[in-house]
Amino acid sequence: MEKDFVCIVCPNGCALHAVENDGEISVTGNRCPKGEEYAKAELTNPVRTLTTSVATVFPERPVLPVRTSGAIPKGEIKNAMKAVNAIVVKTPVSCGDIVCANFMGFNVDLLATDDLRA
Ligand code: SF4
Repeated sequence: MEKDFVCIVCPNGCALHAVENDGEISVTGNRCPKGEEYAKAELTNPVRTLTTSVATVFPERPVLPVRTSGAIPKGEIKNAMKAVNAIVVKTPVSCGDIVCANFMGFNVDLLATDDLRA
């Protein structure tokens, strides 16, 4: 299996080429080891940190920006967005507060990335 990626770990955006042969993955195009790590993960278990917003009950602040505290499987992003759309924040929160603990059972929390005052 062969696959091309653009490394998103840093702004350099290196063009990576990964080749999997008998379980061994070789990566070219990376300017640093992080690119190799990224390409191997993309080939075997791609993950993403989810950054989005949730609804609130406060008319003057109807949405609150949130992100997951860690990466979740890329293939679950669509389901994660459905779960996010079902969340409504009903109390004030501070930046960094947990909006949803153990989000979707992925062992990461959904965190507020801004303050929400009543
Ligand atoms: S391979 Fe290294 S230098 Fe290139 S984009 Fe990825 S992290 Fe940045």
